[in-house]
Amino acid sequence: MATIITAKNVQECIRELNTISTSEIKSDDLSLGLYATDASLYQIHPLAVAIPSCEADLINIIQIANKYNVPVLPRGSATSLAGQTTNQALIIDFTKYFDKILDINAKEQYAIVHPGVVRDQLNAAVKDIGLHFAPDPATTSRATIGGMIANNSSGTKSIKYGKTIDHVLGLKVLLMDGTILELGELSPDQYEAKCQQTDREGEIYRSFRKIIFEHSIAIEAAYPKVMRRVNGYPLDEFVHTNRWNLAKIFAGSEGSLGIILQAKVNLEPIPKYKAAFTVHYDDRMAAIREVNKMIAFDPAAIEMLDFNVFEQSVKNNMTKSLHQRLITGTPQATLSVEFFCLSQDELDQRIADFANWLKNNSAAYAYPILRTAAELDDSWALRKNGLGLLMGDPAGRKPIPFIEDQAIPLEHLADYIQEVLDLCKKYGVETILYAHASVGVLHVRPSLDMTSQSDIELMKIISDDVFHLVKKYKGAWSGEHGDGRNRGPRLKDFLAMKCTNVLKM
Ligand SMILES: Cc1cc2nc3c(=O)[nH]c(=O)nc-3n(C[C@H](O)[C@H](O)[C@H](O)COP(=O)(O)OP(=O)(O)OC[C@H]3O[C@@H](n4cnc5c(N)ncnc54)[C@H](O)[C@@H]3O)c2cc1C
Repeated sequence: MATIITAKNVQECIRELNTISTSEIKSDDLSLGLYATDASLYQIHPLAVAIPSCEADLINIIQIANKYNVPVLPRGSATSLAGQTTNQALIIDFTKYFDKILDINAKEQYAIVHPGVVRDQLNAAVKDIGLHFAPDPATTSRATIGGMIANNSSGTKSIKYGKTIDHVLGLKVLLMDGTILELGELSPDQYEAKCQQTDREGEIYRSFRKIIFEHSIAIEAAYPKVMRRVNGYPLDEFVHTNRWNLAKIFAGSEGSLGIILQAKVNLEPIPKYKAAFTVHYDDRMAAIREVNKMIAFDPAAIEMLDFNVFEQSVKNNMTKSLHQRLITGTPQATLSVEFFCLSQDELDQRIADFANWLKNNSAAYAYPILRTAAELDDSWALRKNGLGLLMGDPAGRKPIPFIEDQAIPLEHLADYIQEVLDLCKKYGVETILYAHASVGVLHVRPSLDMTSQSDIELMKIISDDVFHLVKKYKGAWSGEHGDGRNRGPRLKDFLAMKCTNVLKM
């Protein structure tokens, strides 16, 4: 049954929250306006905003919110693209006070952090010991570890490093009933011991095990076989192993299971021997068709950019010189193919093999190689700035994220993209393509004007059509940016249709 939020409840809740003098509570129009948006399409004024200064205050805030039936929504830097951090709720902002790195263990390669620690802040702190927190969304300068875990974020190097879930070792979490759990990997005996507990923790461990045991066949059938699935809860993580870590169920939970208070995360050695090719094509589809063959060379990344970015980068003052250094001629698309190796000899061999393959097998017309750190930084700067350039136009149609996040098995990627391009063309809509070709997550953004009612209708039609294509090609409905308000409503439909043969409720 839906909870009814009354204005009186909200007012009384805010009044009581304001008695907590050591944290910040905001309910003025300016603050509510500031917290009404994230990086998505949505704008929804929250009921109030709490900025807790410590764990004790946070627990107090949750108790008060519960007392008045006010929903809560945890928030990091609000860079979510699917509306995860917009709602009529009490927003809890972790960026101001929950921003400390609590422990770094160089020998065992882990760090323990508050949820509001920014990804680049953590990496700056561990750089001198030769380590890094590997998941790299394009927003590393502001994405928080809490937000990355709850969105199960990943980035350009996911083919090598996986998603955030693969780097979560343990979590301390606060549930909405006030229970605090310390979650980490357990052996079957340790898990059984937790199940024997008579408290709330024991009940949670038992009921979670029941869900997995009773539905493992349905889970196996319903979850698409692509590494980059982030839609729904990662129940499939528990089907093929008997060493369970309940911290992993928070990956991709988007704030729906509880609040992350602390995270123990894995750190990887910083790769020393690196190089990247910028492979140029005069046809976008030719580039996409070659991705599946390039995987055999074990790249750390294959990232695509298309002509839409280059048309902007060649004339924008900020990127003009980057463009001139990196781009040869006027490509329709480039693939940046990066290699990480353990020695210089291995890297030289990989470069030679790949160059030889390109020469004899590829449709590419140029493939300059980048070897120095400065050259590699340039390449990523063009990639990171590219999208911003396209979004900068203040009026008219611009590339909108709503079918940008599907993960498609690589063997079907080219066919899927061709069908998406054809249907957008049918509706007279231009598209840009970019990002993580290596893992089948090409961000497709149709250009639409969100102030035009007819374009809003077109958005819904295109979204419906693409939903059917994703099912046809056995992809994931969200491969990176999460469900949120945007993709959440289709989740049941997406999973249910795959379960019908095995799951009878
Ligand atoms: C230009 C651009 C490029 C992007 N590129 C990528 C990319 O390459 N890869 C990628 O994966 N994503 C990408 N994103 C999406 C986004 O940046 C990432 O998902 C990022 O990790 C979110 O971090 P955040 O701190 O902004 O989290 P928020 O947006 O603040 O929150 C994300 C989710 O986490 C929950 N949450 C936050 N803190 C807590 C907590 N303490 N406890 C429980 N739940 C919590 C929130 O409720 C929300 O559901 C991009 C976004 C933009 C705008």
